[in-house]
Amino acid sequence: MFDAVVAVDAGVDQLLQYSEVEPMEVRELVHGAMFTRGPQDLASTAIFIGGSNVSAGEELLKQVKACFFGPLRVSVLLDANGANTTAAAAVLAAAKHVELRGAAATVLAGTGPVGQRAARLLARQGAKVRVASRSLDKARLVCDTIGQLVADAELTPVETKGPSESAAAIEDAQIVIAAGAAGVELLAADARAAARSLRVAIDLNAVPPAGIAGIEVMDKANERGGALCYGAIGVGGTKMKIHRAAIQRLFTANNLVLDAEEVFAIGQELPS
Ligand code: NAP
Repeated sequence: MFDAVVAVDAGVDQLLQYSEVEPMEVRELVHGAMFTRGPQDLASTAIFIGGSNVSAGEELLKQVKACFFGPLRVSVLLDANGANTTAAAAVLAAAKHVELRGAAATVLAGTGPVGQRAARLLARQGAKVRVASRSLDKARLVCDTIGQLVADAELTPVETKGPSESAAAIEDAQIVIAAGAAGVELLAADARAAARSLRVAIDLNAVPPAGIAGIEVMDKANERGGALCYGAIGVGGTKMKIHRAAIQRLFTANNLVLDAEEVFAIGQELPS
């Protein structure tokens, strides 16, 4: 429903929705989209991969791309669970206040779909990224995966099983992005206040309690204890603008594949 409403708001004239699509069903659907018109008219059709399961969405994107050949293709956007647009909005918020190249950034709960993409985008922009998780193995896996995608990425996995480890994970960081599951506090207010180098603190969790205690869901560059704070709705406005702009971009060509980096680039072009 959410994705459909945004598509209409972005100006889509006809919306054809398919749910619970399995990888083996992709070929027929994509061929249905790309064999209908000559290549010069294929930009009028685009594919949006949404839904709530991001790894299933990633698999569908792989299948969709495998269907294309020559000029016979349509543009496609992956934003399952809002992961790409949300991570892009969070990293853009941080970039408004801190030069990302060389900055120390911590992504708390950086193993979920949003956190992984935020870490990847930060690394791509040249930040030194700590990926925190309750499990060091999970954090390592995320760092390894991003390291394979981003040449020269500076990534450090960090285990954060409790409050003192979470506090240590943001020591010396200029940026923290909390990307934990809804309703889970990851960082206590005193730990954030004690991190004197922190310039931007972003909490993506909209469900109380906050992921970073003391950040309000509506915060948008509100100064709290020396750091500029963003809450989930504070980031959400930009996320929605990026989402709409990315859908509109789909219809400018028939060969676009919009994943995390491309969605971030669209966000960079938006007026601030
Ligand atoms: P997710 O997959 O549900 O969870 C992210 C990570 O949170 C998990 O990988 C896990 O990391 C950690 N976690 C889960 N349960 C925990 C617990 N009980 N205690 C401590 N850590 C726990 O989240 P997501 O889909 O990536 O989304 C991240 C956040 O962004 C969510 O709060 C979501 O609601 C929000 N969101 C916001 C917007 C927006 O527009 N503002 C849009 C989409 C999503 P480890 O197991 O590695 O510790």
